[in-house]
Amino acid sequence: MSEIDSLKSQLESLQAEALAAFAAAADLDALQALRVSYLGKKGALTEVLKGVGKLPPADRPVIGKFVNQTKQALAQALDASEAKLAVKAKAQRIEAERIDVTLSGRKRGAGALHPVQHGLDEITAIFSQMGFAVAEGPEIEDEFHNFDALNIPPEHPARAMHDTFFVKQMSDTPMLLRTHTSPVQIRTMKRFLAEGDEPPLAVVAPGRVYRCDYDVTHSPMFHQVEVFKVDRDVSMAHLKGVLKHFLSTYFEKDVAIRLRPHYFPFTEPSAEVDIGCVFCAGKGCRICKGSGWIEVLGSGMIHPNVLQSVGVDSDAFSGFAFGLGVERLVMLKQGIPDLRLFFENDVRFLSRMGVAK
Ligand SMILES: [Zn+2]
Repeated sequence: MSEIDSLKSQLESLQAEALAAFAAAADLDALQALRVSYLGKKGALTEVLKGVGKLPPADRPVIGKFVNQTKQALAQALDASEAKLAVKAKAQRIEAERIDVTLSGRKRGAGALHPVQHGLDEITAIFSQMGFAVAEGPEIEDEFHNFDALNIPPEHPARAMHDTFFVKQMSDTPMLLRTHTSPVQIRTMKRFLAEGDEPPLAVVAPGRVYRCDYDVTHSPMFHQVEVFKVDRDVSMAHLKGVLKHFLSTYFEKDVAIRLRPHYFPFTEPSAEVDIGCVFCAGKGCRICKGSGWIEVLGSGMIHPNVLQSVGVDSDAFSGFAFGLGVERLVMLKQGIPDLRLFFENDVRFLSRMGVAK
């Protein structure tokens, strides 16, 4: 075979091989790699052209024309494959980015009141309906209003039991986060007397309180409602009547109550208040530990020292007071087993227990 025929046949097989490869290219990147390997500076065609230099000068134009035809055929095939692959790539991208417009949208849920806030509102409303005025007080208190005026002097063991958070001292007066809502009792009576009023005075004081405690039934921040009434001849019978009405209204059934003697520094006599178990109707269950009774709050007749600390004549007037834990009552009413659920902000709990307004 002559030199020129050998070159021609090399070019023919190169062309056939290249066209087959272009047609089989999977994507545009693969095609680009093939373009370089056949038509690039170090490509297969350049390699064949090296042989042209060895031909006699008369043969060179003949083979030159043949080379150009091959180049052109390759370029055309590349362009055709490229166009085909570009269409395919676009179709794939459209498929990948496809949006199903028939899918229904995600609804944004309407909010609900936090179960504790709802309980707080509910409890306050019951007392409001009974004629108690709503009062509030500061959450950062001094020792006088939180302890001293409530008959808890500095050496009193109840101070240690309160697990108090003290606030960084800014003045000579030590400040703390109130450990109960009872300071509102002191503040309200003082304000009331300062305005020249005389009892009767009946107040409900809802709010946040703080103690350094955290477990299944304790949280460092929780809610209390303080209720008190001061008048002439207020007795334990009034206290019991108010408690019975309140607890039966709150639990939406006639609940039995019992008062157990207890000790609190700010009331005398003092009583723990139990209700007949709302889960087993007094028969005894796991919640009431088989006793049929559940402790719900502390109460008593306001200690004469407390009345005197704000300037109320304790010979002429008497009063009752009690403080209840809002979380505890909501847990009992809704059957919530762990107090920490209230503060974990788990939306599954909140949307199930929250109350639509
Ligand atoms: Zn029970």
